[in-house]
Amino acid sequence: MNMTSLTLQDKMFSELREKKIFDLARSYAYNYVDQIRQMDVFPASEKLADLSIFDEELPEVTCDARKVIAQLNTYGAPATPAQTGGRYFGFVNGGVLPVALATKWMTDFWDQCAGLYLTSPINAKLEEVCEKWLVELFKLPASTVAGFVSGTSLANLCGLGAARYRLLKNQGWDINQQGLQGSPELKIIAHKGIHGSIIKALALLGFGRENVLWVDADNQGRIIAEAVPELDDQTLLILQAGNVNTGAFDPFNMICQKAREAGAWVHIDGAFGLWAQASSTLLHLTDGLEHASSWAVDGHKTLNTPYDSGVILCRDKDALIRAMQATGDYLMMADRREPLLYTPEMSKRARAFELWAVLKYLGKEGVDELVTSLHQKAVSLSDKLKARNFRIHNEVVFNQVLVSFDNPNQTNDALSRIQQSGECWCGGTTWNDEPAIRISICSWATTEQDIDRTVNLFQEIRKSIAEQ
Ligand SMILES: *Cc1c(COP(=O)(O)O)cnc(C)c1O
Repeated sequence: MNMTSLTLQDKMFSELREKKIFDLARSYAYNYVDQIRQMDVFPASEKLADLSIFDEELPEVTCDARKVIAQLNTYGAPATPAQTGGRYFGFVNGGVLPVALATKWMTDFWDQCAGLYLTSPINAKLEEVCEKWLVELFKLPASTVAGFVSGTSLANLCGLGAARYRLLKNQGWDINQQGLQGSPELKIIAHKGIHGSIIKALALLGFGRENVLWVDADNQGRIIAEAVPELDDQTLLILQAGNVNTGAFDPFNMICQKAREAGAWVHIDGAFGLWAQASSTLLHLTDGLEHASSWAVDGHKTLNTPYDSGVILCRDKDALIRAMQATGDYLMMADRREPLLYTPEMSKRARAFELWAVLKYLGKEGVDELVTSLHQKAVSLSDKLKARNFRIHNEVVFNQVLVSFDNPNQTNDALSRIQQSGECWCGGTTWNDEPAIRISICSWATTEQDIDRTVNLFQEIRKSIAEQ
């Protein structure tokens, strides 16, 4: 190596010292935020075509870090759906609160490994605080513990894993030692309105789809309580707070207490809907939910934390911990929190930072206001669409609105026009055998003006379809 040229290490030290790349990243990011409301809500096809710039050979040599960041900004930023802008209604994606972004930026410089107390005492502390606050917000039993995972898909896996451990253990079978082969049979009950991530989790846990007793759901995607089979202490029953199409909630009060008395394990997928339990206005939707055994919820949807934030809440600490790690029993004895005990991962991002920041910032009142306002905007959108004779398929109990145009062909045509409009973005689905447009109000940044612009767009599209 040439002594006069900088080594790679020297180069990186100077990048850190001079901070030019961070200034650059900051100015790009600010620029993005400042134009978010003007940009196309879904990138135009030229912007997507420009992504071919990334089809290059792996570089032979090191380059200037500014070049890397500039390329990502120039071609990456314009190819992003404008998810934080207020008119992105796809899936149930959620926006991001400013305080969470600032926290993420600052703590990224810490690069903490959140697996153990020793690798990040501050993360372990904030996990403890978030656990306590979430149990309080959701009004869950005092014994409830929390594991911080990437999202509800993984939280569901953890909850169902804890259920599998406990239900088998109750019958004298240790799944960690003896495995699934030859184990006592469990009665697994789910319903037809359940989310795909539950099916995924059941498959990963070795329960095939055919071993599930599938209960019918009603026309809103709620389990039909009367159709639930007999529950016993070998039963795992999976319920849902917030159907991904309609936003509907299962009738927990009719089922959960009975299940508890029978010794069954109830897991509730509350990815975006569990937050109703933290509101003052929507509690009727979640009545009885506290009698379940485990709950999965996202930070990155309704609460608007950045991505990679899900939580498993479990009233049976021992079951969750045993299910997550078969060895290292000595760790359980530690009186301080060891984050990896509650999740499948060891090394992981310190997700508690942003979750803590958002909860601290909003407080109970702010969470209530956020959740309530998402609901109110969904109702307003639905009312305004109804007033213009669009068909709304669902009872708008939470934040989801399912709408159709005058016939199935028009709905399909309209959906693709909406998606190409740049004005807003909605996903599509099939509801009761009919195509429907799915609108999810889940960003704090959506305003009444955004709702009006959306309604106007729908109206214009209907007109142009009729005229063609
Ligand atoms: C989004 C969602 C999931 C999956 O959560 P991820 O955070 O995407 O892993 C599960 N269930 C429901 C009801 C959802 O809306």
